[in-house]
Amino acid sequence: MHALKLETYQLSKRFGDFAALSQVSLTVRPGTVHALLGENGAGKSTFVKCLVGYYRPDEGALLIDDRERVIASPVDARAAGIGMVYQHFTVAPGMSVAENLLLARGQLPARIHWPSARAELQAFMEQAPFSLDLDAMPVDLSAGQKQKLEILKQMLLRPRLLILDEPTSVLTPQEADEVLGALRARAHAGECSIILITHKFREVSAFADDVSVLRRGHLITTRAVVGSTSAELARAMVGGQSEDTPNPGAPSNPDAKAAATNQDRPCADTDQTLTLQVIGLKVLGDRGQWAIRDLSLEIKRGEILGVAGISGNGQRELLQSLIGQRPREAGSVSAIGRPYDGSRKLNRILGVRSLPEEPLANACVPGMNVLQNMALRDFDVAPACSGFWVRWGRLRKTAIEWIERYRIKTPGEFAPIESLSGGNVQRTVLARELSSDARLLLVSNPSFGLDFAATAEVHSRLREARERGAGVLLISEDLDELLALSDRIVVMSDGRIVYTVSAQQADRQTLGSHMAGDSHHSLKAA
Ligand code: ADP
Ligand code: MG
Repeated sequence: MHALKLETYQLSKRFGDFAALSQVSLTVRPGTVHALLGENGAGKSTFVKCLVGYYRPDEGALLIDDRERVIASPVDARAAGIGMVYQHFTVAPGMSVAENLLLARGQLPARIHWPSARAELQAFMEQAPFSLDLDAMPVDLSAGQKQKLEILKQMLLRPRLLILDEPTSVLTPQEADEVLGALRARAHAGECSIILITHKFREVSAFADDVSVLRRGHLITTRAVVGSTSAELARAMVGGQSEDTPNPGAPSNPDAKAAATNQDRPCADTDQTLTLQVIGLKVLGDRGQWAIRDLSLEIKRGEILGVAGISGNGQRELLQSLIGQRPREAGSVSAIGRPYDGSRKLNRILGVRSLPEEPLANACVPGMNVLQNMALRDFDVAPACSGFWVRWGRLRKTAIEWIERYRIKTPGEFAPIESLSGGNVQRTVLARELSSDARLLLVSNPSFGLDFAATAEVHSRLREARERGAGVLLISEDLDELLALSDRIVVMSDGRIVYTVSAQQADRQTLGSHMAGDSHHSLKAA
């Protein structure tokens, strides 16, 4: 059997005083798909980085096919037949798919005998579980295709153990099923073993044989997927009924009180039914092409409009143009019945809030600390500000409250924002944007990279906003998220809305086929 048996014995890894991994003893049976579940910070990446020689464990041992083996570097890991698909793309942008594949194999394009290399790649592509155009350049690939390229790069090396870190976040449900189904088939054929890090229970139950749950560096359980329920796994991930569980609806929540008063407050605006109205919007993309072509949409009060689509079909440009970070070439946008340009002033007057993608880059000031970033919205408005004086004491009190309520893992309110993990930056922005009673929320992939508990928290915040009458534009690449939250769903493809459906009538297959619409096929054919 080509597939490898992996066993760790009491593997431990510390960073300074912090135990990121404590005595983890885990077995991956050869020819199986082994899912690894855990909240953000549970130690999943640290664990797999110990397997690929990125970290040296402080204690413990690694056994491959029942023999102890030291993996001191990624080169050792490759020699042992272990490959890893990282969460972030490592595609070389200036090189074609073919060149990227050869580079992954350690061949430099300058030294390649092209005719034979091409024939070899063509043969590889034919038996690969999914195919890509060898001559395509990364800029022309969708995020899903880039992810497939990452997987193909590893498969070309014929690994005996393949590790994947959340590989499906940028795939459509059909693509995810295709990719995971193909990988499972290879595993079950005895060609390789697979470790799959994921946050999606659906993928665990549909594709994994065994599942292990890590919590705070400890292995909580390893068990067969058959016979395990999502509820049991969720409990293993977050622990018992502890303070760990999000409790957004608690009566002590000051936002809830604010929301109640807000509902009683008479509103002076003329148009009360539409929170967002976009007519005939046209926006250019980074390379001067049309990213949004003639897009119109409306969101009512108390409605969540989900925008589905494979990344790269104009969603990013849509949000940027709405919040004033990208010029509009044509069309009109109004919020709460008034023309809207995304300025701070209008955001405040109209109650518009936004959660853009990559919050560290787009919604934070990297040189500032957590407190300053939390204060970004309000530092120049009473009560935070009186005259010229910013009341830092008051802001600090709020910051400390938010850190606790949103369970932001930070050494304190004065820590630099860049020192926080992605999930905690997300929570910081979330605290800031959702703490006041917004009337329109513009949100993009709000749970991208967040763990189970944090995702649940974001979702209940969005539902709360809807309950108190806010409109929500929810752009997401995660269909499960859209189906769970939206009242209505539109699909974006190639800068247009190509499909609209009410949430009750929406189904994954139909949405998925509209998502994989024309632009996707023409790219493949090109
Ligand atoms: P996961 O992948 O499950 O989200 P990680 O393995 O990335 O978790 O991190 C586990 C814990 O170890 C986290 O609390 C993280 O902050 C910490 N950690 C990870 N890498 C380092 C590092 N290089 N230095 C210090 N702490 C780290
Ligand atoms: Mg990780």
